Amino acid sequence: MKITRAGTTPSRSGSPDWFTGAVRLDPLFTSEDTGRAAGALVTFEPGARTAWHTHPAGQTLIVTQGKGRAQRDGGPVEEIRPGDVIWFEAGEKHWHGAAPDTGMSHIAIHDSVDGTAVTWLEHVSDADYSA
Ligand code: MN
Repeated sequence: MKITRAGTTPSRSGSPDWFTGAVRLDPLFTSEDTGRAAGALVTFEPGARTAWHTHPAGQTLIVTQGKGRAQRDGGPVEEIRPGDVIWFEAGEKHWHGAAPDTGMSHIAIHDSVDGTAVTWLEHVSDADYSA
């Protein structure tokens, strides 16, 4: 058994290469045996969001606070709220972030394939974010 105490893992800022606005990443775990599964708490300030991206083995989001938005390529912008659980399929192009006037936090859980958990694409334009 191993317990990682809250507050003992340094926070990181989301890179402006991959995020719009202020985003904080608090790593939660990486699987001890295989290293393939990982989870993080991600906190988006109002208006902040990821760039478009894909995950090679899909991704689960569990919204824990606030109000947010998510969209898969070709689909509508969806509102996401605390308690919602969102699944993106492997290779499904998407983004996720906060609402314009309210921040949002989610836990993100995903597996890596050949050491990669995400492939980053273009930023989400203001027009797409506001659609
Ligand atoms: Mn994602």
